[in-house]
Amino acid sequence: MYAWRYVGAHRPPERHELEIPRPGPGEVLVRVRAAGVCHSDLHVLEGIAPFPTPMTLGHEGAGVVEELGEGVTGLERGGLVALYGPNACGECRFCRAGDENLCTAGRALGLGVDGAYAEYVRCPARSAIPVPDGVSPAAAAVATDAVLTPYHALRSVAGLRAGEIAVIIGLGGLGMNAVSVARLLGAYVIAADIVPEKLERAREQGADETLDTRDTAAVEALTARLPDLVADFVGIEPTVAMAQQIVRPGGRVALVGLGAVSGPLLTFRYGAQQIAVLGSFWGTSQELREVLALIAQGRLSPPVTTEPLEHLPAVLDRLKRGAVEGRIALTP
Ligand code: NAD
Ligand code: ZN
Ligand code: ZN
Repeated sequence: MYAWRYVGAHRPPERHELEIPRPGPGEVLVRVRAAGVCHSDLHVLEGIAPFPTPMTLGHEGAGVVEELGEGVTGLERGGLVALYGPNACGECRFCRAGDENLCTAGRALGLGVDGAYAEYVRCPARSAIPVPDGVSPAAAAVATDAVLTPYHALRSVAGLRAGEIAVIIGLGGLGMNAVSVARLLGAYVIAADIVPEKLERAREQGADETLDTRDTAAVEALTARLPDLVADFVGIEPTVAMAQQIVRPGGRVALVGLGAVSGPLLTFRYGAQQIAVLGSFWGTSQELREVLALIAQGRLSPPVTTEPLEHLPAVLDRLKRGAVEGRIALTP
């Protein structure tokens, strides 16, 4: 089989021929049907943190169970599964407390062990989550991160409630789904980006209002609207600055984007106006089940298009330029 592998920071991913992996005890082998391309892949390639080399990339996968390892029960060959990327161990103190997304075992797909930009991927059986009828492989793949991460951030971490004003900054793979999740939770949604087509698309996705973040007068005017929650799905200096500028006293800022900010935090706003700054990472396997059910019920519809797995380098290039609408899922 072939796979796209990380071979070191500041180097392009390489296409390698590999043996098809065999599932060990408690593991399954999955034939990949779709794997979403996340902006975090770009951060990995830019050297945001150390990763093993070589390592197959791809942390948003879905596919068909091909082979069951020794002792695996509850899964059937031929069934479509979404891959719970954190590959939580179930035993560390975070897993035991229900915070599987913070598992310290370091086995996340494509971010520690071989991931889904390949024809086959091996994972623990507990990471293979059965996909309900009516959910396509591409939707199931992007559910595992592009939908799961905003669902966890807005609902579980930031506790977004009906009637609150939520500002979503960055309408990419994650942010566009954040708009839908915020609507589902009953919030009034203001969606912000720098690309007019994405603002248009966000309105179709259910945003009540949209805003170009380069329009400083419009950003300034937003302050008077007293947003309860500002969720940043970019995480660069201008977006973090905007978030802390517009959030209301006593409000929350959720930081999800990993765009490597440097620069001062406005301590007066946080300290004297009691603003909560909330980091948020990925989600739990239970939340992934909930997200898949919501997609099956038609209550969430992640925007996703497919392209051949061969196209990974070109897709990464487009993502870097902000030229991807919604999410692209690669199909082997
Ligand atoms: P993406 O490339 O699909 O989307 C980024 C969006 O930000 C684009 O629509 C772009 O036009 C917009 N943008 C860029 N500059 C902007 C600005 N100044 N103002 C407003 N919008 C701006 O990326 P993605 O895959 O959705 O990922 C978004 C971020 O979230 C990345 O940093 C990624 O690494 C991170 N991420 C975090 C987690 C987590 O668990 N915390 C999980 C997945 C991804
Ligand atoms: Zn991701
Ligand atoms: Zn763990």
